[in-house]
Amino acid sequence: MSFVSPTDIKRIAAKYDFRFKKGLGQNFLTSQEVLEDIAEAAEIDGGGVIEIGPGFGVLTNELAKRADKVVALEIDDRLMPVLADTLSEYDNVKIINRDVMKMDIAALIAEEFPGERISIAANLPYYITTPIITTIIEARLNIKNLVVMVQKEVADRITAQPGTKDYGALSVLCAYYTEAETIRRVPAELFVPPPKVDSTVVRMRFREEKAVSVNDEKLFFKVVKAAFSQRRKTLLNCLASGFSTDKAETAKIMESVGIDPMRRGETLSLSEFANLANAMY
Ligand code: SAM
Repeated sequence: MSFVSPTDIKRIAAKYDFRFKKGLGQNFLTSQEVLEDIAEAAEIDGGGVIEIGPGFGVLTNELAKRADKVVALEIDDRLMPVLADTLSEYDNVKIINRDVMKMDIAALIAEEFPGERISIAANLPYYITTPIITTIIEARLNIKNLVVMVQKEVADRITAQPGTKDYGALSVLCAYYTEAETIRRVPAELFVPPPKVDSTVVRMRFREEKAVSVNDEKLFFKVVKAAFSQRRKTLLNCLASGFSTDKAETAKIMESVGIDPMRRGETLSLSEFANLANAMY
């Protein structure tokens, strides 16, 4: 059954008297080409995949063709009868009517995919894009990759390099745990209803070995957070206020790893952040 085109989406919405809820980020994708690109980017190869927010099931359909098993988490109970209809031909799809932010994803993986290194794929609801991504990354799940469609601005922050305006704590977090890359841009008019901004599909491939060696990860991320806390201030000022330390002492530590205290946080590479945190350890 075809259910991807704007006409299909509108027909299904009419059949179920479904009203799109802006507050739940319900912008449904209507491009078969983009759906295939997301599913291919997830590198499923017959393994398992979790989808966040299946909506009418357009991406779930592409994932189910490629996966051994798909578990999809959908908050909106009005979508349960729709998904039972649109995905009726598959016996490898399990829909769970839950809020992803209230779920223990590690426990879900252990239960549904024991011993497997799965992928996570989603056309994410805009209102919780960054919390979902950071929660998944910080949970240190043993997953292969996370492929998500997000607002272009968030994608630019995820993939940003040092010294650029988009480089920030999210870029460092993603670079530390993953190799992040842009898969493709997706214009707003390919969604029903169209959102206000364009989107980008990003793939984060989880590293088997961390990108840099860090003595204390908690301290490392505290340094990163402090470094980006006040963008107009020098790294020295940011660190001294973030850690409530003596400036001369902090400057000495920075110089010991070859970092000029007058630099700004956004110019530091991942390995410079690691060297700095290790020197403060
Ligand atoms: N996958 C569909 C597509 O590509 O057309 C729908 C994507 S739509 C951008 C986001 C979906 O996430 C909606 O179906 C929405 O109801 C669901 N959603 C929103 N918040 C959620 C949450 N906290 N947990 C699980 N699903 C959520």
